[in-house]
Amino acid sequence: MERFLNGSGTDKNKGMVEELESYGVIKSKKVAEVMEAIDRALFVPEGTPPYVDSPMQIGYNVTISAPHMHATCLELLENHLKPGMHALDVGSGTGYLTACFAVMVGSQGRAIGVEHIPELVESSGKNIEKSVAAPLLKEGSLSIHIGDGRQGWPEFAPYDAIHVGAAAPEIPPALVEQLKPGGRLVVPVGKVSQELKVIDKNMDGTLSVRNELSVRYVPLTSREAQLRGR
Ligand code: SAH
Repeated sequence: MERFLNGSGTDKNKGMVEELESYGVIKSKKVAEVMEAIDRALFVPEGTPPYVDSPMQIGYNVTISAPHMHATCLELLENHLKPGMHALDVGSGTGYLTACFAVMVGSQGRAIGVEHIPELVESSGKNIEKSVAAPLLKEGSLSIHIGDGRQGWPEFAPYDAIHVGAAAPEIPPALVEQLKPGGRLVVPVGKVSQELKVIDKNMDGTLSVRNELSVRYVPLTSREAQLRGR
């Protein structure tokens, strides 16, 4: 990770990370490092305040998650984002979290984003190209694909870490299937009231499921339903 951590990110981005540390949202040094390295300003639409701790509209009836949610998910997945590991980001949106995953798993690992709005896939690529994750996109260890993320992305399965950035009505079976034994899936589940679920696949293939916290995400749905505003 060292080569990505030199002098990038602005003072304000660093300030946001320090604030999340002071609130205890970020506990891990690695998570702080990666959020410092990937400047959030490169991922929000022009005119949107990048460092305010709130979700922000990115078009297509969806939002970039708030910094504290990105931090929480990185904390939950940290041990499954070690160099060389495989990570899947479903509903990759702006590409922010996919870029964080890519820096953590490094060039020997794989970070895959799946997003069903082609325009967001394109703009996320442009965002990443401006960030310290650009070489990983170029080398191919980081890639973002157009697709229905409810089906995961079998090509690079099994995954050590799977993150879902939109709320599913139930735990998506294809994602459980694509999880490696020892791997972890973090997914918001529910309609009006949602819980962020942490699903660990044990070495014998059984699952351990717990609710981490109550959350509010946009739905994991079909492209048509999303574009007509549900
Ligand atoms: N984590 C991202 C985006 C969160 S918004 C970020 O912080 O930038 C949720 C994203 O999931 C949106 O971009 C939306 O288009 C996408 N999405 C919703 N349902 C999907 C599906 N079935 N397949 C793929 N992407 C989906």
